[in-house]
Amino acid sequence: ADPVLDIRGLSVDYGFDANPTHVLRDVSLSLGRGEVLGLAGESGCGKSTLAYAATRLLPPPGLITGGEVWFTGRDGRREDVLAMTDARLRQSRWQDTAIVFQGAMNSLNPVFRVGRQIVDGIFAHRPKWSKAQATERAAELFEMVGIAPDRLRSYPHQLSGGMRQRVMIAMALALEPQVLIMDEPTTALDVVMQRQIVEQIAELRDRLGFSVIFITHDVSLLIEIADRIAIMYAGEIVEQGPAQELYRRPRHPYTKGLLSSFPPLRGPKTELAGIPGAPPDLSNPPAGCRFAARCPHALGRCQAVEPELGPTAVPGDATARRVACHLHDGAQPVPLELALTR
Ligand code: SF4
Ligand code: MG
Repeated sequence: ADPVLDIRGLSVDYGFDANPTHVLRDVSLSLGRGEVLGLAGESGCGKSTLAYAATRLLPPPGLITGGEVWFTGRDGRREDVLAMTDARLRQSRWQDTAIVFQGAMNSLNPVFRVGRQIVDGIFAHRPKWSKAQATERAAELFEMVGIAPDRLRSYPHQLSGGMRQRVMIAMALALEPQVLIMDEPTTALDVVMQRQIVEQIAELRDRLGFSVIFITHDVSLLIEIADRIAIMYAGEIVEQGPAQELYRRPRHPYTKGLLSSFPPLRGPKTELAGIPGAPPDLSNPPAGCRFAARCPHALGRCQAVEPELGPTAVPGDATARRVACHLHDGAQPVPLELALTR
């Protein structure tokens, strides 16, 4: 079946001057119907930019310099989101693809009851609905995300952070979108609340069958929810594959470093390893691998030759894993520590 969302070769620059920052470079990513895709990487790696660009919500000075974003509707019709007219885009947004922005739970209007804010959101897309109809839908949405419908009468400050985030999820689901993009939906919450929200999203996905792109800097959260994980570094996807496989046996040195920076939510906490160094200057990215300056395994050719995201050449690997790293191009044996189970 066609993926519901198929991002191809998406590139974004920031800045209109002679020396723009190349924040996203040739990113390709597809999202299957009903799939939860986790997108992880350090802050500033381009995760949010990818979400904004793919939904055409990129604020200036961001500029899409190349690529296509194919959306396939329930009826099988394929459309390039980047080629949609503004009118078509307004229609499609929230209805085909909905997005919960980073920090959205703090953007609720403090002077209106949350129920009214949901109802207003519904009216913006369903102007012909009666007030009773919209209110009923709002109550249904609240129940769906596990909030008692009488909370519709609450003001935002009367709700906990976790509840406000659920309100945002309810709003995003109001028009039954096929794709839900969530940018750091649990980042501001405590660990218990994070777990609850992640479980809620997983349950809703099972029940309603939408697809999710779950963006986070905390890759350990993804193991709870994602079917597949893509890892970004310095504006590029460096590794992607089935969640459990990628988590247990990271292949890219950056993935490995990222995983050891975030201990799993379950089980004993290990010491944070971190990854020394900083990402490269993206207005003048290095010629070879963008991770070379921080990579403990860098080879001679890493500085000069850019690794391509491709299937791994590891013998016996049938996991559909793709890695952009010279260690895995088959030219030499994979270092034992990268091949070993974590
Ligand atoms: Fe490290 Fe080279 Fe792989 Fe880049 S290509 S991650 S520098 S080993
Ligand atoms: Mg971000």
